[in-house]
Amino acid sequence: MGITSRNDWLRALGGLLLPDGCSGCGRATEHPPFCRRCLPAAAPPVPTTPPRPLAAWVAEVAYTGAWKEWIHRFKYPGAGLMSLDPAADAVVLALVRAAARRVPDGFNPDLVVPVPLHRKRRRVRGFDQAALLARAVAREVGARACLNALERCRDTPQQIGLSRRERRRNLRGAFVARRSMEPCIWLVDDVATTGATLSEAARALRRAGSRRVVGVCVAHTPPGGTDEAFETPVLSS
Ligand SMILES: [Zn+2]
Repeated sequence: MGITSRNDWLRALGGLLLPDGCSGCGRATEHPPFCRRCLPAAAPPVPTTPPRPLAAWVAEVAYTGAWKEWIHRFKYPGAGLMSLDPAADAVVLALVRAAARRVPDGFNPDLVVPVPLHRKRRRVRGFDQAALLARAVAREVGARACLNALERCRDTPQQIGLSRRERRRNLRGAFVARRSMEPCIWLVDDVATTGATLSEAARALRRAGSRRVVGVCVAHTPPGGTDEAFETPVLSS
């Protein structure tokens, strides 16, 4: 059957961008990239008590299985793709928009801010995934985003295999706010493990004047889970 209408064109384009079936469980779905069972994901994966000084934090899925693979593709698009993996972008941006809708009432954002990469890493990677996420979150809730509000002033060693306390020490003073901050900030990142990175970035926002900082993440590493396997940019074909 040929492509006959604008609708068909759009569907054909969508077919290129979106994966076949549900991105969570692989089953056929009428609502790609997720089936009804997988979006919203069965249970919010984040423990209710956020690490200080966060006022709240949310994530959409646990950092395991298919979700982990999608996030990995989003962060490390295959060589030759020029940092583009539209299917992974579609899945991960849909997840972070869903996470944004989980933020409890009473935390309306004055500004949405990404946890930035150090500029050296940004140069190596060619893009900053947290900036893409922050823009999607801001659009979803009709708030302003400021993509360079925070600067990562130290290129901290990878957090792989470090305990909570070691992560904290590793990150101390890693972020600085580049201007004075609004009262309620949503701080966006891809994966939270212990929350040490969010915590340290939130401290910089508080020093710059914000009173409440809410962490908004795509995924959370479940207790006992590990972020090790995907920390190194091993590209899958
Ligand atoms: Zn599913």
